[in-house]
Amino acid sequence: MIALKYPDILLDSLENGHMIIDDKFIVSYWNRWLSINTQIPKGEIIGKSLKEFYPEINYKVFYRKIRTALVIGTPTFYDTNSSTKFISMNRNKVTTSSLKLMQQQVTISPYILHENKVMVSIYDISELFEAKLLIKKEIVKVSRLNDKLEAEKEIIDKNIMMVKTSFDGIIIDVSTLFCQFFEFEKDFLLGKNISIFKSPDIPEATYKELWWSVKNKKSWSGELKNKTSSGVEKWVQTRVTPIMDENGELSEFSAVYHDITNEKLLAQLYITDPLTKLYNRARFDEVINFIVKHQRKADTDFILVIADVDYFKSINDTYGHQVGDEALVSVANSLKNSLREDDLVARWGGEEFVIMLKNVTLDEAKMIMEKVRESVQKIKINDTISITASFGLTKYIIGEDTKKTFKRVDDALYEAKNSGRNRVVIK
Ligand code: GH3
Ligand code: MG
Ligand code: MG
Repeated sequence: MIALKYPDILLDSLENGHMIIDDKFIVSYWNRWLSINTQIPKGEIIGKSLKEFYPEINYKVFYRKIRTALVIGTPTFYDTNSSTKFISMNRNKVTTSSLKLMQQQVTISPYILHENKVMVSIYDISELFEAKLLIKKEIVKVSRLNDKLEAEKEIIDKNIMMVKTSFDGIIIDVSTLFCQFFEFEKDFLLGKNISIFKSPDIPEATYKELWWSVKNKKSWSGELKNKTSSGVEKWVQTRVTPIMDENGELSEFSAVYHDITNEKLLAQLYITDPLTKLYNRARFDEVINFIVKHQRKADTDFILVIADVDYFKSINDTYGHQVGDEALVSVANSLKNSLREDDLVARWGGEEFVIMLKNVTLDEAKMIMEKVRESVQKIKINDTISITASFGLTKYIIGEDTKKTFKRVDDALYEAKNSGRNRVVIK
């Protein structure tokens, strides 16, 4: 086999190192790149053993590689590392990297088989090596960040009530705390519609407003009442946030809940009369003051009514306080049931009740109260005892001090009592 005479011009022009060497390590070719990078000129090394210049190379390994290339007839790789060093070269490129030694990839290719000659090519892979290092560093960073994220996710999972739904309200994730709070298994909730938590006590309009808001990509905050798996009512402060996908399209909703059941119960207690469960006087005062002080004058239109049970003292005296209490509860229920949702009824104290009717004329109010009076008259306590009540009624005059309104309504009640009781009087 006739080998090509060393194609010096070609090999000299390459940006890699190329040498021709036999299995006794005698160098017969040394290209320009090698001369530059090792600072050993061609003339100095050709005809000599590489061992003289680089005794640190592991020649046992190097020999085996050369023989393999020659026997198999295909290139083999010589891995350079700390135990199998090769020709060590400094990097000659100006670089900001701390990598000063050239990282090399060495290939040994069969060249003239019968002379046991191989071509050893050295490629500078420093940049590739640097990129690999950088990627490794980034991977470590990302995995640390991931660990941190996982830890934070766990904290959120255990300490925050969270539920995630699809665009149409199908539950796709729930936190552990959410499941514990509502006493549901996660597997049970996943795939269910969030509407299973809907409460009939929350106005439909609230849910409508919620969905309208989040479907328009706006967060919604409010108080909702939900039931646990065992039927316990819970109040939750809720914030629902729409989540957009990468195209800015609405894809999911995330809701965070905060338990406000105790606060709600306390607040309820604060405004409720314990016997009749009607609003108490404090609540009525609060509402009336709000309407008079904070609303636009045109919206402060209302009718004030005071109801007082007739001869109530004698019920107590005849049948006992217990029966008196039952009578008060019956009157309270009767008032509540014969009025509209919007009308405000409260226990004013003792056997007196106060009512605010909105959006009605004085004549309409009189008719409404006549019906209420009749419904009280129909009450039978313990199936036998009848009761009646008297009613004073007046219209709030826009802009006036409510003391005046109460004075008028008291006068009306007084007149109702004096003119025979069980009647409605307007002042
Ligand atoms: P009138 O027709 O003039 O209104 O007569 P009356 O007996 O209803 O009026 P009076 O104000 O003299 O009596 C009210 C009674 O209501 C006195 C009080 O003992 C009783 N009372 C007040 N609060 C309660 C209560 O919570 N439970 C019971 N059982 N009685 C109460
Ligand atoms: Mg009274
Ligand atoms: Mg009375």
